[in-house]
Formats: sequence, structure tokens, C-alpha cells
Amino acid sequence: MLELKNINTFYGNIQALYDVSLKVGHGEIVTLIGANGAGKSTTLMSICGATPPRTGEILFEGKPISGAKPNDIVSMGISQVPEGRLIFPDLTIMENLDMGAFLRNDKDGIKRDLDYVFGLFPILAERRKQAGGTLSGGEQQMLAISRAIMARPRLLLLDEPSLGLAPIIIRQIFDIVAKINETGTTVFLVEQNANLALKTAHRGYVMENGRIIMEDTSEKLLANEEVKKAYLGM
Ligand code: ATP
Repeated sequence: MLELKNINTFYGNIQALYDVSLKVGHGEIVTLIGANGAGKSTTLMSICGATPPRTGEILFEGKPISGAKPNDIVSMGISQVPEGRLIFPDLTIMENLDMGAFLRNDKDGIKRDLDYVFGLFPILAERRKQAGGTLSGGEQQMLAISRAIMARPRLLLLDEPSLGLAPIIIRQIFDIVAKINETGTTVFLVEQNANLALKTAHRGYVMENGRIIMEDTSEKLLANEEVKKAYLGM
């Protein structure tokens, strides 16, 4: 579904990604793990068009998307949940969700997806008239994921959904990510919480200093001595 071929991404003169190649297949959850500053967010920003790679190629369902504008990339079926959620704090939950569906005009589909996210996160339904900024961190993460789903993506990109949340909430969020995947949405998950990410994903890539240094099934990565020592605290 998604293929990155030798992408090199820069911030001005500083190179953040070196020859990054990876694949995400239809129906998979694939995770990208790595330490602070490894280049995980930059990989997502490269995919969604915010920081396009200087060289290399990004293909979505076989078509090149590097260089496309972020809104066109959303229209093609890719939505991102950014690091730190970035919900609209002064808008209500309902208005935040409407923003997610901004590029759509299929009213019945929008209504169906709204029922779907309210089913996933009933608390959002209860508080639909409340300002987004008054929600707890976990609830804001739920809203950010729901807003992305309202764009009806075939590929959902998640940037560190666990950031700053209590373990019990993180587990809830990851369970929901697995559920979203089971209903047909492909997921690319960037995470520092390698343990939970690998337990949720089918496959994983490990990034260090802007380079992919390892790739395997989650099962094998969880059992890998190097990964255990560097990323799982074992
Ligand atoms: P974290 O988990 O802390 O978000 P990350 O793996 O997502 O880390 P990136 O945010 O992609 O890492 O950062 C990769 C490198 O690019 C880092 O060296 C970072 O300092 C640099 N970088 C990121 N954003 C910018 C920017 N806007 N301008 C300049 N350098 C940047």
C-alpha cells in the first residue's frame, strides 16, 4: 500500500533521513520504533507532504506522492494523527470531528463514520459540545484519532499516541488502534514505547540516527537481544 524508496529528507542543510526504505502492506499494522530524535516523526512528515524528501520516492497504492500537497495526500486516503495530538482547543469535540471530514461531501458516509467513532470512544459522544482543550490528555488523543478517522483514510499514520499518557490509557488507545485495523484500516505507527508498539503491530522497523537499522516481524523483534537491550529495557 505504501512504499518509501531510499528517501533522504533535510531541514535546511541538516540531513534527518538517510536512504530510508520501508513498506506497509494492505491491512497491516506496521510500527517504526526508535529513540528520541531518530527521525521517526520526520518519516511521517515526509509521507504526509509536510517535509517532502529531497530525493527518493514515496508510492501510495503504486502512485508517486512525494511532492504532492498535504491536502491532496489526505484526499488520496492518508490521514495523520500528529505528535502532541494538535486538536483545535477552542472548538467543540463535534467541530473538531467536522474538521476531520472537511474534504468530504458524502453526508451519509460522514454520519456513519461519526457513529463509528462515537462507538469506539463513547466519552466523546457524551461530551460532544465540550471544547477540545478541556479534555484530558487521553481524551484528546482519542479525539485526534477520531478526527483522523473522519477523513475516512485507508492508511492511518499515528505519531507517538502514547506520549504523556498513563499506562492504562495507553493500553486502551492501543486496543482501539488494533480494532480500527481489524475493520480494514491499514496503520503505520511511530512509537517510542517499543514494547506496546511491537505487541500491537504485525511488523516493525527500527530507526537510529535517521537510518533503518533493522526490520522484522514484531514477534522476532520482541525476541531480538539487541532490541531488548536498547528499546525494551531488558
Ligand atoms: P521524537 O520521538 O523525539 O519526536 P523522532 O524520532 O520523531 O524523535 P524527529 O523529530 O524526526 O525524531 O527528528 C529527527 C532529527 O531531525 C533530529 O535530529 C531533530 O533535531 C531534527 N529536526 C526535527 N525537526 C526539525 C526542524 N523543524 N528543524 C531542524 N531540525 C529538525
